[in-house]
Amino acid sequence: MKLDFKDQKVLIRVDFNVPLDAAYKITDDTRIRAALPTIRKVLKGGGAVIIMSHLGRPLKKLNEDGSINKEKFTLNHLTSHLSKKLRKKVQFCEETVGRKASAAVKALKAGEILLLENTRFNEGETKGDEALAKKMAKLGDLYINDAFGTAHRNHASTAAVAKFFKTGKKSFGLLMDAEIKNANRVLNNPDRPLTAIVGGAKVSDKILLLEQLIDFADHIIVGGGMAYTFMRALGGKTGNSLVEEDRIELAKKLLDKASKTGATIHLPVDSVIADKFDAKAKREIKPSKRIKKGWMGLDIGTQARKDFSKIIKSSKTILWNGPMGVFEMKPFANGTKTIAKAVAAATKKGAFSLIGGGDSVAAINQLDLADQVSYVSTGGGAMLEFLEGKELPGIAAMK
Ligand code: AMP
Repeated sequence: MKLDFKDQKVLIRVDFNVPLDAAYKITDDTRIRAALPTIRKVLKGGGAVIIMSHLGRPLKKLNEDGSINKEKFTLNHLTSHLSKKLRKKVQFCEETVGRKASAAVKALKAGEILLLENTRFNEGETKGDEALAKKMAKLGDLYINDAFGTAHRNHASTAAVAKFFKTGKKSFGLLMDAEIKNANRVLNNPDRPLTAIVGGAKVSDKILLLEQLIDFADHIIVGGGMAYTFMRALGGKTGNSLVEEDRIELAKKLLDKASKTGATIHLPVDSVIADKFDAKAKREIKPSKRIKKGWMGLDIGTQARKDFSKIIKSSKTILWNGPMGVFEMKPFANGTKTIAKAVAAATKKGAFSLIGGGDSVAAINQLDLADQVSYVSTGGGAMLEFLEGKELPGIAAMK
């Protein structure tokens, strides 16, 4: 962020897509807190701040009469919280672009903050509409993209808008810089051994990541629901465990490729199995390849925890994406918990650890270990795509 903010109107795209409860109270403000350093820096530099963000998917959840549910999706739900965090009044404008937005921007002075209405109230936003982007661009002298969580979207406010600012008039924010730097620390010349821990529900969501990892990781630990598709690829019996039948062949190919190239794939030798998908289900620990009829694997077993922890603790770079089991239910959270502790222990010993977004972030927060790992990403899908080697539109547009 090497721009001169003095007396400039600075349009900042952040990702304030935070979860709200039924009374529209923010239940997790991580994404808001993550954007504060950039906002503060602009204010300190003598600029006026204009904030743009989306919240939810308002055009996918219209009212019965086809109108936008403004009550539910307005960004105004965030105004007072943001104000408190910045210890400064935040003004709100009920438009993203338009006459009211232009007037509010015109009246905005250095040191003041204006929050614009949900970018996704505008039809052109998710289409990356250039006309809408041009209107957005007119609001600021400078543009900052700090919305890492939305960087994989080719939208008007995240990508198209950047084209209307010349080099020297646009920049990534501090959060965006940190996300890119930390992801690159895993991708470019990482200290080895490099271990990737991949979990979560489905192989299909993480195929590209796995394919990418086989070529550059030393160890790939597979846990969570996706491990059972691999177990089937090995000829195992998996009962009612989550299996993607149409991905078994792919799992075979990945195992085959891994056996020939650098990365070693580690699967959980045992699992916590349950007789139903329920916190109160009967539980047993059994080999992951021999799960009884009607039962399902919902967490990695005790031996798998030991095996995985040993590999993690001897790693120099660790990437973690996806929980090891159904961690939302306490009886099936122990695998994820043990792995989180192993990642924290390795970090303490000097390893670099990146928690790559989504549910593994929820898990690490739930365990209060976020400050014991090297970096916790704010972007689930965006981080996944970055690590898959894709160029994210929000990043590409700044070049
Ligand atoms: P993902 O979004 O792909 O990272 O998946 C996260 C979800 O996977 C969480 O909601 C977990 O409860 C779920 N999950 C993890 N392990 C299992 C499992 N063994 N069976 C079913 N779901 C699982």
